[in-house]
Amino acid sequence: MEIKINKGILSLAEGDITKQDTDAIVNAANKSLRGGGGVDGAIHRAGGPKILEECIRAGGCETGEAVITTGGNLKAKYVIHTVGPVYRDGLHNESKLLENAYKNCLKLASSKGVKSIAFPSISTGAYRYPLEEAAEIALNTAITYLKGQTDIELIRFVLFGQKALEVYEKVLKRLI
Ligand code: ADP
Repeated sequence: MEIKINKGILSLAEGDITKQDTDAIVNAANKSLRGGGGVDGAIHRAGGPKILEECIRAGGCETGEAVITTGGNLKAKYVIHTVGPVYRDGLHNESKLLENAYKNCLKLASSKGVKSIAFPSISTGAYRYPLEEAAEIALNTAITYLKGQTDIELIRFVLFGQKALEVYEKVLKRLI
C-alpha cells in the first residue's frame, strides 16, 4: 500500500529491513547500542562489525532518541539506531516516547540529506508494544512529518510478516 502526502510517499511493505535499498534504515535498538535480538541482531549480522564499532563509540542512546552510523555492508548508506519504549501498561509515557523515537529518526535523517528511509515496527517485538496502537503512532508521526517542510521523499514501513502488514494497512486506511 502506498499513499502520496505532499511531495512524499508513505509506503507499507512486508519484508526484511536489512534488505532495503533506501538511503537509511532504522534499527529498533536498545539503550546500550551493543546489539541484541530481533531487528537489532539482524542488522548487525547483515551489516558487519563496523556498525557495532560506531555504536560503541557513540556510547549509548536514551529511549526516544536516535543515533546515526554508516550502513556497513548493507545497501543503505546509513543506519539510524533508535530506542523505543518498553511497554508496561500505557501509563508510563510510552506513546510519547514511541512518537519521539520516530520523530528523532526523521529529523536526524533530514539533517544528513536522507531522501528515503525504512522503518521497522519499533517496540512491537521484545518491547511488547501492542501492534495496533504502535502502528497508529508510527503512521501518524510519519504523516505529520511528510505534511511539514521536508526533503524526505519516501518513508517505508517494513513489516515482518503478512499479519503485521495487514494491521498497518488497516490503521493507515482509518487515518487517511
Ligand atoms: P523492540 O525491542 O523495539 O520491540 P524487536 O526487534 O524485538 O524490537 O521487534 C520489532 C519488530 O520488528 C517486531 O514486530 C518484529 O516482528 C519485527 N522484526 C524482526 N526482525 C525483523 C526484520 N529483519 N525486518 C523487519 N522487521 C523485523
